Amino acid sequence: MTEPLVRLADGTVKQVSPLTGTTVWTVPGRGGRPLVPPTPDWRPVSAHDRDRLCVFCWGRMLETTPEKSRLVVASDGTASTLDGLPASQLGASTPELRSFANLFEIVSQRYWRTNHGARTPDGVHARAQAYVAEPEGRAQVEALLAARVSAAGTQLAPAGSPAWWQDVDDLFAGSHDVVVARRHLVDGAQFADELAGAGTLDVAEHRRFVAFTVEALRRVYEAQPAARYVAVFQNWLRPAGASQDHLHKQLVAIDEDGPQLARELVLAEQDPALYQHAVLDLAVRHGLVVARNEHAVAVAGVGHRYPSLEVYSTAPAQLPWEHTPAQVDAFADLLHALHAATGAQVPSNEEWHHRPPGAHQPMPWRAVLKWRVSTLAGFEGGTRINVNTIDPWQVAERVVARLHELRAAGRVAPMAIGHQCEDLVLRYGQEAAR
Ligand SMILES: [Zn+2]
Repeated sequence: MTEPLVRLADGTVKQVSPLTGTTVWTVPGRGGRPLVPPTPDWRPVSAHDRDRLCVFCWGRMLETTPEKSRLVVASDGTASTLDGLPASQLGASTPELRSFANLFEIVSQRYWRTNHGARTPDGVHARAQAYVAEPEGRAQVEALLAARVSAAGTQLAPAGSPAWWQDVDDLFAGSHDVVVARRHLVDGAQFADELAGAGTLDVAEHRRFVAFTVEALRRVYEAQPAARYVAVFQNWLRPAGASQDHLHKQLVAIDEDGPQLARELVLAEQDPALYQHAVLDLAVRHGLVVARNEHAVAVAGVGHRYPSLEVYSTAPAQLPWEHTPAQVDAFADLLHALHAATGAQVPSNEEWHHRPPGAHQPMPWRAVLKWRVSTLAGFEGGTRINVNTIDPWQVAERVVARLHELRAAGRVAPMAIGHQCEDLVLRYGQEAAR
């Protein structure tokens, strides 16, 4: 195999992703620019408006589909999960995180029902009945159904008919979920551009955000037995595909691997230590390791069309929910640190990857954080060669410098940074193959 990362004599950097085969060139002289030009939004925001800026805000809870689950944190720091609250109880506690079905699913319940014979999970219909028995619940559900048919250009089924109840049940079931964090803007924000991103959460909040998402992931698999895989991702800001500038993650059950995962499964079949050999050893060889803690490692990624960072769990476990709480926290801490180092003004995609539970090839839990700072153009479309403005060494250099500042300021969890990182071994179920 040729080296996936080379710098030519003139300074051009050529990369080929060891996992996807994506080809990326970085031409010299463009990498030192700011990631995004600052575009301050000085619109003042009142304390009242701060909680009603978008449909994900806590002041507008009845505008989302009925809540599936919420995390409430007591003043002593104890967190508890409340499932399936009735509409009348939504204001009785202040959640730190909420989960609910996406109103406009990528893969709908109807798809699962029609193509896979999926049944509405036990208990959903009873919950739907109880929910709409309350006037506020009924009004919420009717408004949601109306929004859905209006977007789809279809007709509303007569209220109370079996078709209507099916539509109502689908609002409560769904295997495309959204997990939303409490703040739209940082606490005390005065202007509309003081957005609360993943990196502005504190370490404990970000740990709970990741752990709550891991549990939501486990539940989506449980509720949709026909799912082959559940994609987890976070689109941050509109240039990265977000519909709201409010921190959230999405979980989407799908019935096939998709081309990237299918390719990786073939590679992992040939080399059970694929991610060690193709990714981590490559990162070590080129000085691209940016951070390490007890159960995870972060590297600048090679062969991504956008400048990217990757977090790998180094735990023996593979599926996210098989990790111990300490292992999930460690993973969350590195991800949090990378977001903090990136800055909340930079549009990004965070994409989680894990072994499809039905696959036998070993795969570690990992996340890729992509900086959406460039737009694909005709050159890329015509050649399949992507031009990226910042090479992996520059990504690593920027992030390492910023992590030192953040660690010194106590804004990120304790971790080894850059050259301090040791013991760079991925342990996911492939020990025997090493
Ligand atoms: Zn909001």
